[in-house]
This record gives sequence, C-alpha cells and structure tokens, in this order.
Amino acid sequence: MKDTVALVTGASRGIGKAIALRLAESGAEIAVNYLHSQEQAEGVVAIIRGNGGRAFAVQADISELEQVKKMCGTIKDELGPVDVLVNNAGITSDNLVTFMSEEEWDKVIDTSLKGAFLCTKIIGRTMARRKTGRIVNISSDAALLGDMMRSNYAAAKAGMLGLTKTAAREFSGYGITVNAVAPGVIETDLIEGMSEPKREKQKDMIPMKRFGTAEEVAEVVAFLVSGEASYITGQTISVDGGLCMS
Ligand code: NAP
Repeated sequence: MKDTVALVTGASRGIGKAIALRLAESGAEIAVNYLHSQEQAEGVVAIIRGNGGRAFAVQADISELEQVKKMCGTIKDELGPVDVLVNNAGITSDNLVTFMSEEEWDKVIDTSLKGAFLCTKIIGRTMARRKTGRIVNISSDAALLGDMMRSNYAAAKAGMLGLTKTAAREFSGYGITVNAVAPGVIETDLIEGMSEPKREKQKDMIPMKRFGTAEEVAEVVAFLVSGEASYITGQTISVDGGLCMS
C-alpha cells in the first residue's frame, strides 16, 4: 500500500487504532482521526512513525459537515488525497426504546450513520474524480441481530449497511469498492462496562466461546482495501466467532 493515503475515523482507540496500525504496516500513510483523545491519537501516530511510517492526527467531529470538510482539506495538504476511507468512529448510548431520549437517539445516529455518510460524500467525490478508492464501513452484528437497549445503535449500524450497498452501486463504475465489516463482541473500551455475568452469557452464545480482538477486525479491513479484494463490493463480512450466520 505504498503511496496510499488512508483515513481511519475514530482511530485514537480500540478497533480504529488497530486498523490504523495494520494499514500502516502495509505501507499506507495514515490520517488518524479522533474527537477527544488527542494524547491517544498522537500515541498511534508515534507508533507508526517509530516504525518508519507516515501519519498525523486530525481532530474532527465527523457528525459535522464543516468539520469533515476541514479535516479532508487538512489531510490533502499533509498527505494528499484519500485513497482508503475507513468509517469506524461510533458510540453507544443505551436505553430501552420506550425510555430512550431524542438526544440519545440522535447522537448515536449522528456519529455512526451521519458521520459515515458525510465522510463518504466528501471523500467519495474526490475518489470518483480520480477513479480509484476503497471504502470500508465498520457496522456491527447489532445491525443483523438487533441488540437489547440499543435501538439507536442497531438502527445506525443497519443504516450503514444500506449506505454501503447504495454507495457500492453508485461508485461501481469509478473503480471504487464499498464494503462493510460487522464485528461481533470485540474487547475494547466500548464493552468495558459490561458486567461479568453478562460477559459470560455473551461468550456462551458465541460458537467460538470468546470475544474477538481489534486486530482480528483490522485484518479483514486490510484485506478489503487490498488489491486482492478488487472484485468484492457491497458486501458485509461478520467478524464474530460465528455469532451471526446467514
Ligand atoms: P471505542 O474504543 O469506544 O472507540 C471509539 C472511537 O470513535 C474513538 O477513537 C473516538 O474518538 C471515536 N469517536 C467517537 N465519536 C466521534 C466523532 N463524533 N467524531 C470522530 N471520532 C469519534 O470503540 P470501538 O469498540 O473501537 O468501536 C469502533 C467501531 O466498531 C464503532 O463504530 C463500533 O460501533 C464498532 N463495533 C464495535 C464493537 C465492539 O464490541 N467493540 C462491536 C461491533 C461494532 P475519541 O477517543 O477521540 O473520543
């Protein structure tokens, strides 16, 4: 992936960090997007640079169009146009559907779904002009199975699958592939608050009887953005130890 510029949203921690490190290992130059965790994002950049790679951290709230535009301009100035976009940033805000506030609904939809739309809209335009590009959307098994207390999250992640398939069709004539990865339960900050009994119950439902690692998700993203995946578009690949089988 030499001379390839990749933007990974929400790359300061967890799955995004693992994706950024994995793509850098393949030779890509990385824009490490973050919202609050500047120190952690700079830490990811330091690891990449320490390994001889090229990277920089860029702060932006991906749910805001103007911030996305500014971020893309900064990346273009620092590294050049984006060849690989990984829409990874996402949040949770759990509640039963009848108790969920409008704010809880909106902020999850705005980050995961609208954020992916805005980045695809702005970066996809340049990719189409250049007739090359790879987009990977980090959805979730929650999109396919639903998830207790997470109507906002499951809806956002299911929306990302609609976005993936539509963008894959629209960009198919422009040398751009668009795919989704649907992780199951992955050990990151996102599941930190899960109680021990719930952890055990969840593991019991997974055929492989364990949670996944961020690195296991990153490997699939690395494949989807590689030349080897040139004829794959509009697909969703679950990385979940067999939790969701279609
Ligand atoms: P995480 O550890 O909580 O990290 C979330 C990342 O998103 C952070 O880098 C955070 O930046 C960033 N972020 C949040 N809101 C943002 C915004 N508005 N603009 C820009 N960046 C923003 O989460 P994770 O577990 O790695 O999850 C990564 C993705 O995988 C998410 O989309 C999640 O839904 C999905 N996923 C995770 C699991 C799982 O079990 N962990 C399962 C299925 C799907 P700051 O640190 O700067 O706030």
